[in-house]
Amino acid sequence: MANVHEPVCRLCRREGVKLFLKGEKCLGERCTFTRRNATPPGQHGLARRRRVSDYGVQLRAKQRARRVYGVLETQFRNYFDEAARRQGVTGTVLLQHLEQRLDNVVYRAGLAASRKEARQLVSHRHFAVRGRTVNVPSFQVRPGDVVTVRERSRAVEPIARSLQRAGLRPAPAWLSIVPDQFRVDIMRAPERSEMDPTIDEQLIVEYYSRR
Ligand code: SF4
Repeated sequence: MANVHEPVCRLCRREGVKLFLKGEKCLGERCTFTRRNATPPGQHGLARRRRVSDYGVQLRAKQRARRVYGVLETQFRNYFDEAARRQGVTGTVLLQHLEQRLDNVVYRAGLAASRKEARQLVSHRHFAVRGRTVNVPSFQVRPGDVVTVRERSRAVEPIARSLQRAGLRPAPAWLSIVPDQFRVDIMRAPERSEMDPTIDEQLIVEYYSRR
Protein backbone atom coordinates (compact mmCIF):
# COMPACT_ATOMS: atom_id res chain seq x y z
CA MET A 1 0.00 0.00 0.00
CA ALA A 2 1.34 3.34 -0.93
CA ASN A 3 1.97 5.86 1.78
CA VAL A 4 -1.12 7.93 2.47
CA HIS A 5 -0.26 11.35 3.87
CA GLU A 6 -3.79 12.18 4.96
CA PRO A 7 -5.57 10.98 8.13
CA VAL A 8 -7.04 7.74 6.84
CA CYS A 9 -10.43 8.06 8.57
CA ARG A 10 -10.89 11.28 6.66
CA LEU A 11 -10.64 9.27 3.44
CA CYS A 12 -13.64 7.15 4.50
CA ARG A 13 -15.68 10.27 5.18
CA ARG A 14 -14.55 11.73 1.85
CA GLU A 15 -15.67 8.61 -0.05
CA GLY A 16 -18.86 8.22 1.99
CA VAL A 17 -18.16 4.57 2.75
CA LYS A 18 -16.06 2.58 5.22
CA LEU A 19 -12.77 1.69 3.52
CA PHE A 20 -11.46 -0.43 6.43
CA LEU A 21 -8.02 1.19 6.53
CA LYS A 22 -7.31 0.96 10.26
CA GLY A 23 -7.60 -2.68 11.18
CA GLU A 24 -9.57 -3.58 14.28
CA LYS A 25 -10.71 -0.02 14.91
CA CYS A 26 -12.82 -0.28 11.75
CA LEU A 27 -14.80 -3.21 13.13
CA GLY A 28 -15.84 -1.62 16.41
CA GLU A 29 -17.68 1.39 17.79
CA ARG A 30 -14.52 3.52 17.71
CA CYS A 31 -14.80 3.78 13.93
CA THR A 32 -14.78 7.50 13.12
CA PHE A 33 -17.08 7.02 10.15
CA THR A 34 -19.76 5.57 12.44
CA ARG A 35 -19.24 8.07 15.24
CA ARG A 36 -19.40 11.15 13.01
CA ASN A 37 -22.42 9.87 11.19
CA ALA A 38 -20.57 9.86 7.87
CA THR A 39 -20.49 13.60 7.22
CA PRO A 40 -17.94 14.63 4.60
CA PRO A 41 -14.72 16.14 6.00
CA GLY A 42 -14.20 19.88 6.24
CA GLN A 43 -15.68 22.72 8.22
CA HIS A 44 -19.01 22.74 6.39
CA GLY A 45 -19.55 19.01 6.02
CA LEU A 46 -22.75 18.19 4.19
CA ALA A 47 -23.44 21.81 3.29
CA ARG A 48 -20.62 21.64 0.74
CA ARG A 49 -22.14 18.74 -1.20
CA ARG A 50 -23.31 19.73 -4.67
CA ARG A 51 -24.84 17.78 -7.49
CA VAL A 52 -22.10 15.54 -8.85
CA SER A 53 -21.46 15.20 -12.61
CA ASP A 54 -21.02 11.83 -14.35
CA TYR A 55 -17.30 12.53 -14.44
CA GLY A 56 -17.32 13.24 -10.70
CA VAL A 57 -19.10 9.95 -9.97
CA GLN A 58 -16.57 8.03 -12.09
CA LEU A 59 -13.67 9.86 -10.44
CA ARG A 60 -14.96 9.02 -6.97
CA ALA A 61 -15.37 5.34 -7.91
CA LYS A 62 -11.77 5.23 -9.09
CA GLN A 63 -10.48 7.06 -6.03
CA ARG A 64 -12.43 4.78 -3.71
CA ALA A 65 -10.91 1.63 -5.24
CA ARG A 66 -7.45 3.18 -5.22
CA ARG A 67 -7.77 4.04 -1.55
CA VAL A 68 -9.18 0.66 -0.54
CA TYR A 69 -6.09 -1.04 -1.99
CA GLY A 70 -3.70 1.81 -1.11
CA VAL A 71 -2.32 2.16 -4.63
CA LEU A 72 -0.85 5.35 -6.10
CA GLU A 73 -2.40 6.87 -9.22
CA THR A 74 0.31 5.81 -11.68
CA GLN A 75 0.33 2.25 -10.43
CA PHE A 76 -3.46 2.09 -10.54
CA ARG A 77 -3.43 3.33 -14.13
CA ASN A 78 -0.85 0.66 -14.98
CA TYR A 79 -3.14 -1.99 -13.50
CA PHE A 80 -5.97 -0.68 -15.66
CA ASP A 81 -3.85 -0.66 -18.84
CA GLU A 82 -2.74 -4.21 -18.15
CA ALA A 83 -6.35 -5.31 -17.52
CA ALA A 84 -7.47 -3.67 -20.77
CA ARG A 85 -4.86 -5.67 -22.68
CA ARG A 86 -5.93 -8.98 -21.14
CA GLN A 87 -8.80 -11.19 -22.24
CA GLY A 88 -11.93 -10.96 -20.12
CA VAL A 89 -14.05 -8.23 -18.58
CA THR A 90 -11.66 -5.31 -18.00
CA GLY A 91 -13.18 -4.19 -14.69
CA THR A 92 -13.09 -7.68 -13.22
CA VAL A 93 -9.53 -8.31 -14.42
CA LEU A 94 -8.50 -4.97 -12.87
CA LEU A 95 -9.92 -6.01 -9.49
CA GLN A 96 -8.27 -9.42 -9.78
CA HIS A 97 -4.88 -7.72 -10.23
CA LEU A 98 -5.53 -5.67 -7.11
CA GLU A 99 -6.73 -8.68 -5.11
CA GLN A 100 -3.73 -10.76 -6.13
CA ARG A 101 -1.21 -8.29 -4.74
CA LEU A 102 0.79 -9.99 -2.02
CA ASP A 103 -0.09 -7.34 0.59
CA ASN A 104 -3.80 -7.88 -0.11
CA VAL A 105 -3.43 -11.67 0.16
CA VAL A 106 -1.70 -11.27 3.54
CA TYR A 107 -4.56 -9.03 4.69
CA ARG A 108 -7.31 -11.25 3.26
CA ALA A 109 -5.74 -14.33 4.86
CA GLY A 110 -5.97 -12.68 8.27
CA LEU A 111 -2.21 -12.32 8.76
CA ALA A 112 -2.45 -8.54 9.17
CA ALA A 113 -5.08 -6.24 10.63
CA SER A 114 -5.15 -3.91 7.61
CA ARG A 115 -3.67 -3.65 4.13
CA LYS A 116 -1.38 -0.93 5.42
CA GLU A 117 -0.02 -3.25 8.10
CA ALA A 118 0.26 -6.07 5.52
CA ARG A 119 2.32 -3.82 3.26
CA GLN A 120 4.70 -3.06 6.09
CA LEU A 121 5.04 -6.73 7.05
CA VAL A 122 5.80 -7.72 3.45
CA SER A 123 8.36 -4.91 3.11
CA HIS A 124 10.06 -6.18 6.27
CA ARG A 125 10.63 -9.56 4.61
CA HIS A 126 8.31 -11.63 6.80
CA PHE A 127 6.79 -13.64 3.90
CA ALA A 128 7.91 -16.07 1.25
CA VAL A 129 6.18 -17.15 -1.96
CA ARG A 130 7.02 -20.67 -3.16
CA GLY A 131 9.83 -20.68 -0.62
CA ARG A 132 11.49 -17.46 -1.78
CA THR A 133 11.39 -14.33 0.37
CA VAL A 134 9.40 -11.53 -1.26
CA ASN A 135 9.51 -7.97 0.03
CA VAL A 136 7.50 -6.32 -2.75
CA PRO A 137 3.91 -5.59 -1.61
CA SER A 138 2.66 -5.37 -5.21
CA PHE A 139 4.01 -8.85 -6.07
CA GLN A 140 1.30 -10.73 -8.00
CA VAL A 141 0.46 -14.16 -6.64
CA ARG A 142 -0.84 -16.80 -9.06
CA PRO A 143 -3.08 -19.84 -8.61
CA GLY A 144 -0.89 -22.63 -7.24
CA ASP A 145 1.39 -20.26 -5.31
CA VAL A 146 2.02 -20.90 -1.63
CA VAL A 147 2.56 -17.95 0.70
CA THR A 148 4.25 -18.70 4.02
CA VAL A 149 5.30 -16.70 7.04
CA ARG A 150 9.07 -17.08 7.30
CA GLU A 151 10.12 -19.17 10.28
CA ARG A 152 11.97 -16.36 12.03
CA SER A 153 8.86 -14.15 11.69
CA ARG A 154 6.24 -16.45 13.22
CA ALA A 155 6.35 -14.79 16.62
CA VAL A 156 6.18 -11.26 15.22
CA GLU A 157 3.50 -9.51 17.23
CA PRO A 158 1.17 -8.22 14.46
CA ILE A 159 1.13 -11.64 12.74
CA ALA A 160 0.51 -13.60 15.95
CA ARG A 161 -2.20 -11.14 17.02
CA SER A 162 -3.92 -11.27 13.63
CA LEU A 163 -3.90 -15.06 13.59
CA GLN A 164 -5.53 -15.16 17.04
CA ARG A 165 -8.35 -12.98 15.74
CA ALA A 166 -8.61 -14.49 12.27
CA GLY A 167 -12.21 -15.60 12.85
CA LEU A 168 -13.36 -11.97 13.00
CA ARG A 169 -12.78 -11.59 9.26
CA PRO A 170 -13.33 -14.87 7.35
CA ALA A 171 -10.97 -15.42 4.40
CA PRO A 172 -12.41 -15.76 0.86
CA ALA A 173 -12.66 -19.24 -0.68
CA TRP A 174 -9.90 -18.62 -3.25
CA LEU A 175 -7.44 -18.77 -0.36
CA SER A 176 -6.84 -21.88 1.72
CA ILE A 177 -5.28 -21.10 5.08
CA VAL A 178 -3.38 -23.56 7.26
CA PRO A 179 -2.81 -21.52 10.44
CA ASP A 180 -0.58 -24.01 12.27
CA GLN A 181 1.76 -24.12 9.25
CA PHE A 182 1.60 -20.32 8.76
CA ARG A 183 0.69 -21.06 5.17
CA VAL A 184 -1.76 -19.72 2.58
CA ASP A 185 -2.46 -21.63 -0.65
CA ILE A 186 -3.73 -19.67 -3.65
CA MET A 187 -6.39 -22.04 -4.96
CA ARG A 188 -7.58 -20.01 -7.95
CA ALA A 189 -8.16 -16.45 -9.14
CA PRO A 190 -10.71 -14.52 -7.06
CA GLU A 191 -14.24 -14.25 -8.43
CA ARG A 192 -16.05 -10.94 -8.56
CA SER A 193 -18.49 -12.02 -5.84
CA GLU A 194 -15.51 -12.49 -3.50
CA MET A 195 -14.27 -8.92 -3.91
CA ASP A 196 -15.36 -5.64 -2.38
CA PRO A 197 -19.03 -5.06 -3.34
CA THR A 198 -18.76 -1.31 -2.71
CA ILE A 199 -16.40 -0.88 -5.68
CA ASP A 200 -18.08 -0.13 -9.01
CA GLU A 201 -15.51 -1.23 -11.58
CA GLN A 202 -17.71 -0.25 -14.52
CA LEU A 203 -17.47 3.39 -13.43
CA ILE A 204 -13.68 3.02 -13.25
CA VAL A 205 -13.61 1.67 -16.83
CA GLU A 206 -15.76 4.63 -17.92
CA TYR A 207 -13.43 7.05 -16.12
CA TYR A 208 -10.36 5.82 -18.00
CA SER A 209 -12.21 5.40 -21.29
CA ARG A 210 -12.99 9.11 -21.53
CA ARG A 211 -9.39 10.22 -21.07
FE1 SF4 B 1 -12.54 4.14 7.96
FE2 SF4 B 1 -13.72 3.70 10.32
FE3 SF4 B 1 -11.56 2.36 9.65
FE4 SF4 B 1 -11.36 4.97 10.21
S1 SF4 B 1 -11.93 3.34 11.62
S2 SF4 B 1 -10.38 3.86 8.50
S3 SF4 B 1 -13.34 5.68 9.40
S4 SF4 B 1 -13.55 2.26 8.59
